[in-house]
Amino acid sequence: MERQAKQLVMALKPWETLLFPFLFFSVIAAGSHEDPTKRTMEEFSGYVFHPSHSIFSLPPVDKESLQNQIDELSTFSDTPAPSVTRILYTENDVLARRYIKGLMGQAGLSVHEDAVGNIFGRWNGSDPELGAVATGSHIDAIPYSGKYDGVVGVLGALEAINVLKRAGFQPKRSLEVILFTSEEPTRFGISCLGSRLLAGSEALVHVLKESVDDQNTSFFDAARSAGYAISQENLSNVMLKKGSYFAFLELHIEQGPLLEEEGVSIGIVTAIAAPASIKVEFEGNGGHAGAVLMPERNDAGLAAAELALAVEKHVLETGSVDTVGTVGIIVLHPGAINSIPSKSHVEIDTRDIDEKRRDAVIEKIHQSSIEVSRRRGVKLSEFRIVNQDPPAKSEHSIINAMEDVVQQLNLSHKLMISRAYHDSLFMARVSPMGMIFIPCYKGYSHKPEEYASIVDIANGVNVLALTLAKLSLD
Ligand SMILES: [Zn+2]
Repeated sequence: MERQAKQLVMALKPWETLLFPFLFFSVIAAGSHEDPTKRTMEEFSGYVFHPSHSIFSLPPVDKESLQNQIDELSTFSDTPAPSVTRILYTENDVLARRYIKGLMGQAGLSVHEDAVGNIFGRWNGSDPELGAVATGSHIDAIPYSGKYDGVVGVLGALEAINVLKRAGFQPKRSLEVILFTSEEPTRFGISCLGSRLLAGSEALVHVLKESVDDQNTSFFDAARSAGYAISQENLSNVMLKKGSYFAFLELHIEQGPLLEEEGVSIGIVTAIAAPASIKVEFEGNGGHAGAVLMPERNDAGLAAAELALAVEKHVLETGSVDTVGTVGIIVLHPGAINSIPSKSHVEIDTRDIDEKRRDAVIEKIHQSSIEVSRRRGVKLSEFRIVNQDPPAKSEHSIINAMEDVVQQLNLSHKLMISRAYHDSLFMARVSPMGMIFIPCYKGYSHKPEEYASIVDIANGVNVLALTLAKLSLD
């Protein structure tokens, strides 16, 4: 087959050599199965070769049906439109999963699920022994969020598969669409639960054995209620063997304003910032807001407030815009206006693309917690680093493949860092990884105003489809 390809290249006119990558793909596609009635490249419906430029056109993305699917999926929600709330293993999550499995079936993919409900839809390649090229994202949604976060990377991936099928493309490596379980930490406080487990986190297996939601439902009972026959033993079976995937790609809305502001169609992610989260608790004596005089107090609430300001200070001290820190939760006990807080609970999120610098910030936050508790006479009853994930870098060969594709599609693009984490952060531990960002309105995400235009989504689907096609022939 290689000789066939070489002969073809030698026979090409200069402009035709520009088409080579795709002619090569057609040769492999045509040669990869024996059925002579299978259509050859020339007969692929929708492929238009332009002698004047080095691009072949895929059949168009079916924008109308993709938008309809996005709208329909958003109706599986615990809160009214336009907000979307879809929490792990709830009835609406189960219905949404059923909807996606139905679409996978319609696309001709073979569907299977693992013990925690990661869903895989596979299109077998002509050489199914080779590592597959996978793509996917999540469909869970935090309370009162929007309908594009994650969803674009699942429904968009299915449309990318459909586009390639309509083109008559035959993959060599299998192509797979993955729906990851619980990217959002809403129910059990664990982000990227499905991909983290796929990536082989033994620590997570231990945490899940103890995990309960705020209704005191255990992780295992919740999974069973959603139809997953899960036991502590088969959790480890979820983990992927290294080499299962040749490449993993994720299409996602940017969740930031840069692409829209700069009028750029596609962001190619070079690295994903490393997130860490910390829980801190202080305990004081509390007391009556009128009776206990100021010098006698050890106010756990003020310790929390001081720590929040210290987080901001330590982050700013790095002098890098890439370091960020957020205190998103402070809970005071007993939470009454006339009662001095006797307990406080603080949750801190800090991220950076530089792991060492982020870890140095965590250490300073720890020192400040100790210092504040001593000075205020409150007990530091907990300082727990809940997770401290390393950053991930995209694979150079995947970045290059994506850059080739955006140029062939005549789309503007920029290389950028993902400051939000994604399932790709964990898939990067078991597979070469790459991410495609598309613009979203004002960078809004995790709220009902989240929006991406179908034109931008279709651009992302095209980039994804062609990159999948390229990598599947690698
Ligand atoms: Zn997401």
